[in-house]
Amino acid sequence: MGFLKKRMARDKAKTNFVEAPPFPDKIIIETINACNLKCVFCGVPELKEKVVKLDLDLARQIIFDSYAAGAREIGFIGNGDSFLHPDFDKIVAFGKEAGFDYMYVTTNGVLADRATLEKLAENGLHSIRFSINAGDAETYAAIHGRDCFQLVVNNLMAAIDIANQHKREGKNLTKVMVSSVVTPQSELGIMDFQKKIASIVDDFMLITEVNEQGAYRMDYKNECNFLFNLLKISSSGLAIPCCGCGHAMLAIADLNNERVHDAWNNDVARNMRRRFLNGDLSGTLCGVCLKHDEDNVQPLIPGIC
Ligand code: SF4
Repeated sequence: MGFLKKRMARDKAKTNFVEAPPFPDKIIIETINACNLKCVFCGVPELKEKVVKLDLDLARQIIFDSYAAGAREIGFIGNGDSFLHPDFDKIVAFGKEAGFDYMYVTTNGVLADRATLEKLAENGLHSIRFSINAGDAETYAAIHGRDCFQLVVNNLMAAIDIANQHKREGKNLTKVMVSSVVTPQSELGIMDFQKKIASIVDDFMLITEVNEQGAYRMDYKNECNFLFNLLKISSSGLAIPCCGCGHAMLAIADLNNERVHDAWNNDVARNMRRRFLNGDLSGTLCGVCLKHDEDNVQPLIPGIC
């Protein structure tokens, strides 16, 4: 099992399925809800949400509060590419200042040039995952909506170079990974690409089943652990205990009005977990996800969407 799948299995194994679990040791931060590509399997370009960048003061407060509550990892992932936030490096630096043990980002890699990566590494980033969903320029353009294949491969090579240097010097950025969403159109090219670079990256994960964002689809079967040990912060400051969907429908709080440590086990969160544990998911996003019940789905907080 590769590094990425091992981490997913680890997170699932240590889940505490109770109404008021401890604050998660990992938070996910969406710095911006915009992307510069348009992948064919991704629902983000269809969302048509107003583009919102995470406010710097709010980001700092959430990061410091989360660390104080027990979080030790930050993943910069979401309905967009973190590199599009003009102050992404500053947000990463907040994590380092707070004391986080491990910070990682998933990106399409278009803006992950050497200078930007060096700055992020200096500011405390430990790991980067490139999402590259084709093995040649022509297929890349067809899948991603733009031909940036060579640019992204060049950026990937720069990341590997920096990571090798950081490994030698005992510094921050030591892991570089690739994931590829496999489609019938791209499958052969991706396998070829994987053969070429698997030995020089820390993991190369093939994703054969995806959700609407092209994210890895777990084996849900009523076993989803997100409500109990994962907290995503949307770029507008909503606290959402779900990574894959990211919808405000599952928001438990607006962190512009409530501190993150209070939000984690507030009445909305506890009520949703109680319903989940009792299998009472009608009208919730989890009901759509687990039971394909799309009737009358409502946000947990009325009016938040
Ligand atoms: S919607 Fe619910 S069941 Fe589906 S991934 Fe999110 S938390 Fe898990």
